Parts: sequence; structure tokens; C-alpha cells
Amino acid sequence: MNISRLRWIILFVSFFLLMFGAYAGLYLGSFLPTFSCCYVNTRAGTCFMLTLQQIIGEFTLDSMLVFLERLLYFSILVIILGRAWCGWICPLGFIQDLLDYIRQKLRVGYVRFSEKLKRRLLWIKWTFLSIALFLPVWVAFPVICPGAAINLYIPFCQMCPGKYLLPLCSGNPDRISVNYETATNVFMSTLGLAFSGITFIGSFVKRRFWCSFCPLGLILSWYRKISFIKLKKDDVKCTRCEICYNTCPMEIEEVYKSRGREDVTFSECTLCLKCVENCPEEGALKAEFKIPFVPGITLYKSSFKKFINKRVKKSSATNEVHSQLKN
Ligand code: SF4
Ligand code: SF4
Repeated sequence: MNISRLRWIILFVSFFLLMFGAYAGLYLGSFLPTFSCCYVNTRAGTCFMLTLQQIIGEFTLDSMLVFLERLLYFSILVIILGRAWCGWICPLGFIQDLLDYIRQKLRVGYVRFSEKLKRRLLWIKWTFLSIALFLPVWVAFPVICPGAAINLYIPFCQMCPGKYLLPLCSGNPDRISVNYETATNVFMSTLGLAFSGITFIGSFVKRRFWCSFCPLGLILSWYRKISFIKLKKDDVKCTRCEICYNTCPMEIEEVYKSRGREDVTFSECTLCLKCVENCPEEGALKAEFKIPFVPGITLYKSSFKKFINKRVKKSSATNEVHSQLKN
């Protein structure tokens, strides 16, 4: 089985488990490093972003102890899988990949962000993270405008695209509406709806659009150096053909550009392994599972044979379509 198919299967199964696991009595805790949204009633676990905001919003000694415990579980999960949580498990990632798949089938081109633009947009995810970290402090200590503060409970969740897109997929379209209870609610839910619309359209025209702005992905990237799954490059074998860059949904240039660097797991990398799958050079790229002080295990590596097989399959499929059209 090729790695793309395996990733689709895991994404699909994770999506259904995380979205509907409650029907089977499954609950995996409230420290998941992925968008298992608290607004989906049938979810099988809850996103760590919710815990983070709730606990800051309470700001008591007990809540801090609970936070430390959940942070420990969260960290263990991230250390084991790194940002593979984004590339292989996240339900919002699955929706984005599905939209990208539809785009490809419709033969619509996609937009690519330049490196300069990517750097310019970095502030967005930091702003989302600051909202998640600092507005709950106001909820805990509502010295000014306490009426507004109370409605800013879990502020990032209120504007997260997952709040609208995931319940919609779980058969709960009533979430797609403005909350008219207070002026703050109107403001936050309008922002949330706007971000959801932008994410939906953005993911159709740009691969993994939301992942470039996701504050949870930002937190996951801080574990990059200590997480066990690594993307590695053999600089001697790499011919700098740029195929890895062209196939990368996160458009990471550094994989082919970097020189003399073995570990090429950059902070934006979701470990989808599309670059490894498409790299034509035998062993130039590989994914490795590496626990400190123990020799690493190669999970998957680039191979010329796989590269050729893939091209042959693609061209025979194209020829088939052409001959069908002729007939
Ligand atoms: S696809 Fe492989 S050979 Fe080509 S630039 Fe990337 S790592 Fe190097
Ligand atoms: S660098 Fe490779 S593994 Fe990382 S996101 Fe890009 S294609 Fe996927």
C-alpha cells in the first residue's frame, strides 16, 4: 500500500473516531493535540486548546494542578508523534485535504504563498495564541468591564473555524449562526463565522490553508527538537530537484534548500511524508522514529523504484482517459 493511501485511511478513521466516538462510549481525554472540538457533542476527546483556556480562566491552585497533569499527557502525545497529529489525525486537516482533493479532481489550480508572504502572515497564529492565553486572564480577574469579560470565556474556541466546520460535518448545522445574546457574543460569533468561511474557501484554493495559521500547530512545533518522529535528508544523495518543495502541502522550501543538515523537520512540517514519497533519489529523504540513546528506526524512505512506479501509474491512467475520450 502506498503511503498516501495509508495516510488517507488513518485520517478518515481518526475523523470518524474523534467526531463520533462517543456513540461507542469512547473518550480519550481533554488534552488531545488535535482539533477534537468541544462543540461536537459526539466527540471522543477534547482539544488541548479548550483545557488551556478553561484553566487559565479559572486561575485557582486546583485548576493549575489539573493543568500540569493534562500538559504532561499532552506533551507525551506530542513527543511521540510530533506534528504527525496535524498531518495524519486532525479532523480539520482531513476536511482541508478533502477540499484539496476535490480541487484536484475539478482540475482547478492552487495558490501558493511566497516565503515573504508567509513571514508576513506569521503574526496571525501568534495573535490567535495570544487571544487563547491572555483573554482568559481577564475572565479570571475581570477588573474592568466584567460583563464583557464573562462572555469571553474560551475566546479562541469562539472564533475557531473548527467550532463551525466540525459540528457541520457531524450533522449539527444549527451551530452555523450568529449568537445574539450579548454584543460580545455577536462580535465573537461573527468573527468565527468569517474565519470559517475564509478557511473553507482558502483550503479549496491553497493546500492546508488553516494549518499556516493554527495556534495549536504552533504549540506542537515547539516540541520539534524532542519529538521522536524526524524527517531526515541525506545531503549527498539530494540533487536539489525541488520535487519535495512542489509536492509539500505546507510549501516548505528549506527541505531542498538546506545544506549539510540531516534533520529537516522544520516547524511547519506536518510529517505528511509526501516529500519522501515523491523524492526520486534512493534514500535521499526518510522518516525516522528515534528515541534518545537508541538507534533510529526508518519508517519510510524515498526510493527510485517507487518514484518510477508512481509516474508509470499516473501516465497509464492519463493514457486511459485519453483513449476513452478518443473512443
Ligand atoms: S525531492 Fe529529494 S532529491 Fe529532490 S530536492 Fe527534495 S530531497 Fe532532494
Ligand atoms: S516537508 Fe515533507 S513531510 Fe513535511 S509537510 Fe512538507 S511534504 Fe509533508
